[in-house]
Amino acid sequence: MNLVLLGPPGSGKGTQAKRLQERLGIVQLSTGEMLRAEVAAGSEIGRTADTLMKAGHLVPDSIIIDIMDKRLDQADCAPGFILDGFPRTVPQATALEVMLDAKKLKLDVVVSIEVDDEAMIARISGRYSCAKCGAGYHDLFQLPKVSGVCDTCGGVEFVRRKDDNAETVRERLKAYHAQTKPIIAFYDERGLVKRVDGMGPIDEVTEKVQSVIDKQAMS
Ligand code: AMP
Repeated sequence: MNLVLLGPPGSGKGTQAKRLQERLGIVQLSTGEMLRAEVAAGSEIGRTADTLMKAGHLVPDSIIIDIMDKRLDQADCAPGFILDGFPRTVPQATALEVMLDAKKLKLDVVVSIEVDDEAMIARISGRYSCAKCGAGYHDLFQLPKVSGVCDTCGGVEFVRRKDDNAETVRERLKAYHAQTKPIIAFYDERGLVKRVDGMGPIDEVTEKVQSVIDKQAMS
């Protein structure tokens, strides 16, 4: 199963992609995580991306398309993949189509997680993750069971993304509406989009996403 998870920043697509990765046994490909790794490594791509990401702007299509083209050739993608944060513009969606054709692959479904902008700002501003295993938490909505200790791995250090502040989030939402939302129409034309209400609790959204995917797998 090859799928795309679409949704504005804070819609929970990263969390849902991680859960699907475990349930379906296929790899999550997050361009945001790939770029953050480049930034941490201090590479040339990382230096270009860092400034743009901190400002809430998108990284140029050419960089992202090249990263993804190479990533999709790796062996762990053969059983299927979950695209998280890619494509984010119509040129990226077009490039993905060409790329998949050349690799004799196709998308099975595009899941669009639909949410409300103002709620997204509150959600993103409070989120953080375990520095050791990456498990996600939130100041208001998802605290660890024992304060200061990661439920998943027992880690005691936590990190917040540099671009998870209200000002940058507003820019990221603007970029989403101007550049990413039009790809829903692009995939609607191809009959691939399934819409899921992303406003409920995380577990409920997971069930809805899973049910859409199960139906798709049976069709
Ligand atoms: P994310 O982790 O998906 O929220 O992405 C964090 C940031 O990385 C975005 O705000 C962009 O600056 C950059 N980014 C991630 N994926 C893409 C993409 N497909 N195209 C352009 N920029 C991206």
